[in-house]
Order: sequence, then structure tokens, then C-alpha cells
Amino acid sequence: MDQTMPDAAGLPRSGPTAGTLQRWLTGPRIGGLPPLACAPAPALSFEFFPPKTDALDAQLWTCIRRLEPLAPRFVSVTYGAGGTTQARTHATVARIVKETALTPAAHLTCVGASKGEVDDVARAYWDAGVRHVVALRGDPPAGSDRYEPHPEGYAYAADLVAGLRRIAPFEVSVAAYPEVHPTALSADHDLDNLKRKIDAGATRAITQYFFDSDTFLRFLDRALSAGITVPIVPGIMPVSNFTQMRKFSAMCGAGVPDWMAALFEGLEDDVETRRMVAAVVAAEQVRLLQANGVDEFHFYTLNRPDLVYAIAHILGARPART
Ligand SMILES: Cc1cc2nc3c(=O)[nH]c(=O)nc-3n(C[C@H](O)[C@H](O)[C@H](O)COP(=O)(O)OP(=O)(O)OC[C@H]3O[C@@H](n4cnc5c(N)ncnc54)[C@H](O)[C@@H]3O)c2cc1C
Repeated sequence: MDQTMPDAAGLPRSGPTAGTLQRWLTGPRIGGLPPLACAPAPALSFEFFPPKTDALDAQLWTCIRRLEPLAPRFVSVTYGAGGTTQARTHATVARIVKETALTPAAHLTCVGASKGEVDDVARAYWDAGVRHVVALRGDPPAGSDRYEPHPEGYAYAADLVAGLRRIAPFEVSVAAYPEVHPTALSADHDLDNLKRKIDAGATRAITQYFFDSDTFLRFLDRALSAGITVPIVPGIMPVSNFTQMRKFSAMCGAGVPDWMAALFEGLEDDVETRRMVAAVVAAEQVRLLQANGVDEFHFYTLNRPDLVYAIAHILGARPART
């Protein structure tokens, strides 16, 4: 039989395009994600870090002002490793209370301070009008690689949550790890720990960032079967400096998939293209989560607004009308 003659379906049996056409006509079809018009705008939150210099302070406030019209549910301000930014975190949060319409959440850690000292910081937040704390164990200060609880301090985040609830009726969020905390004894221990934090009074978990949406969705399933019913909000890290992010991910236990490395390959010196690729990667990630029913997102802004604003827009967020 002449192999170049079309078969019954009209496909050529051989020749340069036979394989391509065959794949095209018989391969699996990937459905589009549901139209965003039907999806309600998601609840958003944005994380900032406290600035070290006047120039960085100006950058932070440009970022806050750009994202403010998106009316996030809250914005959070981190606490430096080892508790090093206590005054700057407080100043930033207090200014957010005074000068914006935003609801701030102050991060607070257990590292390097007694219970009394941590309680004083919490009381100062309450007095400044801050009603939401992100309660964390914290990482050891630079130079030490092992966490040692302060002899008179809160040892773990669950203890801090309980302490905060004794001080005032704070709303308390805690950290969760879809890929397991790097020093956890096991995935089950880590989930038990999350449950302890919720049982101590936390009402929301915010996750470490991740890039594989499946990982997060599987984690939700595991958390639900462990009896955790509070919202678990995915932490989204838009990545524009891939090399730096890969180094950081190795320390905090976030997996970097091969497909992502391939997407950023060769762009080390091409900031503009990297930013466009970053937008596509993050947009795909959040749309996939949204299509799976996720309707709350926490963005690690790194005090840079543009990428976050664009991704929030893609998710359906629009500036609130005044
Ligand atoms: C959303 C988010 C925000 C963050 N913000 C900050 C920040 O502002 N400042 C900062 O310094 N860091 C921050 N981090 C990093 C965080 O402090 C580190 O990941 C830290 O190593 C763990 O903090 P945790 O609150 O999850 O600790 P925990 O929940 O206390 O858990 C830490 C580890 O100890 C284990 N563990 C808990 N209880 C026990 C126990 N009784 N006995 C033995 N093991 C136990 C857990 O399984 C886990 O492996 C943040 C992380 C996330 C996800």
C-alpha cells in the first residue's frame, strides 16, 4: 500500500508531517481554565518587609500606595530573623494604622526574647490599634544555623499563639508548609504542629511559597483529613530573580521544579524578559489554584508592587471605587 496515501480519516500515513498531525488530531486536549468573569474577586493579602534605609522606606510606601486600592483583607509586615527589626516593624505597622485605610497584621517571633519581652511587644501593638498578629517561631539570627529557644521564652509558635490569646483577643495567623518545614521530624509531625497552632487559637494559616500547585492542593486534602478546617491561604511568591530565589528556596525547603528552571534558563542578564516570564509563571499558578476553588491569596511582595498588581488583576481584583 502507498504509505503516502491518506488513511480513512484523511491523515497521511507517512511523510514529514504525519507524526505531527497524528499527535495533533489524536493527542489529549487541555481544557481552558474557567472564565474569570464568573469567579468572584479573591480575598487578597500582601506581605511587606520593614525598610532599613530612607530610600527603601520610600520604595515600601510607593508599593503600599499602589496596592492599597485593591482593598486587601489585610497587609502584613515581617519581623527580621532573630527579632532584629522589632522597632522598624512596629513603626511601619503603626504608620499603616495611622495613614492608610488598610488593616495591618504584625509578624511576631519567639526568637531571642523572653515571654515578658514578647508580651510587651504584643501589648504595644494592641495599644497602637493592631488587632492581627502573624505568630511565628522565627528563624535563628544570622550566623547560627540551629534554633535554640530562649530559656525564658516561648519555645514554638503554638506557645506564642496561646500567649497572645491570653494578652488580648488578637486575630492570629500562623505559618504552614505544603512541602514540610525543613526541620520537622516528618510530614505528619508537621501537620500535628499546625493543628496545635490552630487549637491554641489561630484562625488562619498562610503557607510558605511553593510553585507546584498540586503540592498545595494535596496539602489541603491532608490538612482537612487531619481535622484542620480554618482557611489555609496559599503564599504566592512572584519570582523575577530566579537565581536568588533558588538559593533562598534551598534554605526554606521550597521545591523549585525543573520546568521553572527551564523557563528562566539563559535569562540571567535579561531583567525585562525575566519579568515577563515571571508574570506568566505566577499568573498560571494562581489561575490554576483559582480554577480549583482557591479564593484567597497571600502575596510576598518583596516591597515591589507591579508584578503583584498585575497578577491580582488577572485574578479579578479591581481597585475599590471611592
Ligand atoms: C507566612 C510566613 C511568614 C513568615 N514570617 C516570618 C517573619 O516575619 N520573621 C521570621 O523570622 N520568620 C518568618 N517566617 C519563617 C518562619 O519563622 C520559619 O519558617 C521558622 O523556621 C518556623 O516558624 P513556624 O512559626 O512555622 O514554627 P513552628 O510552628 O513552631 O514550627 C517550627 C518547627 O518546629 C517543629 N516543632 C513545633 N513544635 C515542636 C515541639 N514542641 N517539639 C519539637 N518540634 C516542634 C515543627 O514541626 C517545625 O518543624 C515566616 C514563614 C511563613 C510561612
